[in-house]
Amino acid sequence: MTIIDEALSAIAANADDYDASNGSPPAPKIAIVTCADPRLSGIVRMLGLADADVDLIRNVGTVIDDDSVRSLIVSTRLLGTREIMIINHNDCGMSKFADQELEARLRTETGATPIAPARFYSFTDVEQNTKEQVAKVKTHPWISADIPVRGFVFDVHTGRLSEVVPD
Ligand SMILES: [Zn+2]
Repeated sequence: MTIIDEALSAIAANADDYDASNGSPPAPKIAIVTCADPRLSGIVRMLGLADADVDLIRNVGTVIDDDSVRSLIVSTRLLGTREIMIINHNDCGMSKFADQELEARLRTETGATPIAPARFYSFTDVEQNTKEQVAKVKTHPWISADIPVRGFVFDVHTGRLSEVVPD
């Protein structure tokens, strides 16, 4: 049995106790962009926030790219979120290789050179990287200037969150 098969059995059993009110239209209050790293999966609970209040946007490396900015525009303009947190973390897998290294490896392994993804957004300095992501959101013309955008680094070893102060 694969993990997917096991998950299908579990969700079928859990549906018996499903709270139908979860199907009401969403009204999140805050958007959080964070890494897909499993160590960040409990971040909403660790922040003491309710699942219903958070529009959680995740990708590998906490990148503000075309897709996450698309989600943030919808989140703030259509869903009504009023604040944005960008939560990067130390020990991120995206700080353990350079884009060019991975691209070279993939070209060798597959023999293909596709046009996408154009970048993997690897990084070396987590604080600097977080500042750059914050700046990309703050300067986007379709994200209202009156929405606070704050960047943070989560320490996976201590569970503590540090705010990254803009330059
Ligand atoms: Zn990460």
